[in-house]
Amino acid sequence: MAVVITDICINCGACIDECPVEAIVDDEDNPTGEEIYYVYEDKCVECVGYHDTPACAEACPTEGCIVWGEAKDGMTLSEERGTAGEPVVED
Ligand code: SF4
Ligand code: SF4
Repeated sequence: MAVVITDICINCGACIDECPVEAIVDDEDNPTGEEIYYVYEDKCVECVGYHDTPACAEACPTEGCIVWGEAKDGMTLSEERGTAGEPVVED
């Protein structure tokens, strides 16, 4: 699944406007009911074709908040991606 926003998200909003495909929603629209931002895995393309590194993770000020999800067939996957659960941006 794309990239995943974890529960250390502080709802700062820095990621949402960076997404080129509008895959991110805020805490109020999170379909899981959790009070954190959320990435729709069926929309996220891991920024392939837009950026070298996922723009949401580059913008996020919370270290390790956005991690790689599990790769599934049919998804657009970054060649640079790490394994599921690893932070997209390592500080
Ligand atoms: S990785 Fe790119 S496409 Fe996916 S949610 Fe983040 S900004 Fe959007
Ligand atoms: S930039 Fe990071 S901390 Fe801020 S809302 Fe997005 S995922 Fe949460």
